[in-house]
Amino acid sequence: MITISCRCAAPRSVAETHVGQAFVCKTCGITTRLTCAEHLRPGSGGDDFDATLTILFGPDRIGERFQLGGITDIQIGKSADRTLCLNAPAVSRAHARLVRVDFGPSRWRIVDQRSTNGIFVNERRIDEHTLQEGDVIYIGNYVLQFGRAHSHGVLQNHQPQVGPEFGAVPAFEVAFKIASA
Ligand SMILES: [Zn+2]
Repeated sequence: MITISCRCAAPRSVAETHVGQAFVCKTCGITTRLTCAEHLRPGSGGDDFDATLTILFGPDRIGERFQLGGITDIQIGKSADRTLCLNAPAVSRAHARLVRVDFGPSRWRIVDQRSTNGIFVNERRIDEHTLQEGDVIYIGNYVLQFGRAHSHGVLQNHQPQVGPEFGAVPAFEVAFKIASA
């Protein structure tokens, strides 16, 4: 079984066969997706899915959280067949991929797939970058934050502004406080 860790801290266990589905929290209404590019045998995912990407800003789905698992690269892009689909104009069809680096705790590297608009992490353009807790990632029209499934971030300040260095991508000053559950 895999534990879904909603940012409101309401836990929920689901079977490995439900990987890929969206779960809407009954307490806070936020959607969590168990995101994994391979089929998992029953019982094999319990110690995984401890890293998350949360949508801080975008054209839709703000607050949605992806819990990452498995060892197969997770493809990110606009195409519906991507494991992590972000459907917006400035996102390339095959924009980026997440590469598993380590387990317990999970470490992931994000790699640009020669996308049109690139990837920015903490406002710096990167080709690839090993993600650290709290990293803010700009992918096209979306701003996501990497974190831990047991951390429950409280978004404190969310001031949109357009930065020329990002072209069509809005830059944000985001103060993000990690509060322990
Ligand atoms: Zn919740």
